[in-house]
Amino acid sequence: MPHRTATPALAWSEGTSPLVFDSPHSGTSYPPGFAYACPLAALRRVEDTHVERLYRFVPELGASWLEALFPRSYIDVNRALTDMDPTLLAEPWPDPVEESGKVRLGKGLIWRTLDDGTPIYSRPMTAEEARQRIDQCWRPYHERLEHLLNAAYRRHGWVLHINCHSMPAVAGPFSTEFPGETHADFVLGDRDHSTAAADITERMATWLRQQGYSVMVNHPYKGVELVRRYSNPAQGRHSIQLEINKRLYMDEDTLALNDGFARTQATLRQLFEALTAEGAPGQLA
Ligand SMILES: [Zn+2]
Repeated sequence: MPHRTATPALAWSEGTSPLVFDSPHSGTSYPPGFAYACPLAALRRVEDTHVERLYRFVPELGASWLEALFPRSYIDVNRALTDMDPTLLAEPWPDPVEESGKVRLGKGLIWRTLDDGTPIYSRPMTAEEARQRIDQCWRPYHERLEHLLNAAYRRHGWVLHINCHSMPAVAGPFSTEFPGETHADFVLGDRDHSTAAADITERMATWLRQQGYSVMVNHPYKGVELVRRYSNPAQGRHSIQLEINKRLYMDEDTLALNDGFARTQATLRQLFEALTAEGAPGQLA
């Protein structure tokens, strides 16, 4: 059984291999103080629902695992603290804030709107409410991820961090910079080869294409804060975002798993077994 924090914000397990997986957006425990004004069904559509189930094999590979149990619409750990959207708040935010495309889309640290532009709240939030979400969710998640990555790095001298997500089959009006686009089966993101050795990303893409899947690299998702923050390829710290098209494993309307789930899960497991069988990135490159 994975570990859980006392107030259940996270679940994790620490492995012994150089691989660390994290799932920041698959949480479905909606906290009592959320106070959203839109339908719950609309919030559930922006989850990366069932991603934690797809990766249930991770401990069997000896790899580390971390997942958020709170929903990404409550606070998005794949954002920097400077991605606070000041228009959400009833009062000034005392900490530094930076211009960002995600905030413009309504999808900063705490989201203002859903993928179709629907507002999430009917009233401004207090700075204290925002602060609590950071302290109870964002900070514990980042501290745990950093610990797992550093532990793997100390053991092996390198670490491969896979940041696990899923995406809608078709982009909503505000879900990416490319609304209405039909997504590939998989999208790999390494922020234009800045968060991982390009060779690792390419090997993953090639392997998936050989199984008959369509794969895009760095489009329309390049990876965001979680791959940026902890990566340093020159030092052997590699982070890659892996987006899986929801149509491969679930029904986006009912949220039920579909007939493709078992095959998709088997594909992921084989991908990482093949990748780790090839050894360290130094040997891969
Ligand atoms: Zn996601």
